[in-house]
Amino acid sequence: MRYCPRCKTYTPHKVSIYKAGKRSPLKEGERRHARRLKGYGGSRKPVQKRFAKTTKKVALKLECTKCGMILMTKGIRLRKAEVAR
Ligand SMILES: [Zn+2]
Repeated sequence: MRYCPRCKTYTPHKVSIYKAGKRSPLKEGERRHARRLKGYGGSRKPVQKRFAKTTKKVALKLECTKCGMILMTKGIRLRKAEVAR
């Protein structure tokens, strides 16, 4: 049970782990990136080779089962995350 701002009460929520969506080649950011990569001059962002952190931030996606509103939690650093049922 969790508070839903749309229902304004506590409702059961479906829990899943947030994953970044697929990159669309027609979106402005991707078009700009492709434009900058064109021609001579190499890549526009440095390629990261060493990582200071050993974990990734995991955010949870909570879907209200009454109205379907999706809420996200603040990302926390975890080594491994899985949804228990
Ligand atoms: Zn709701």
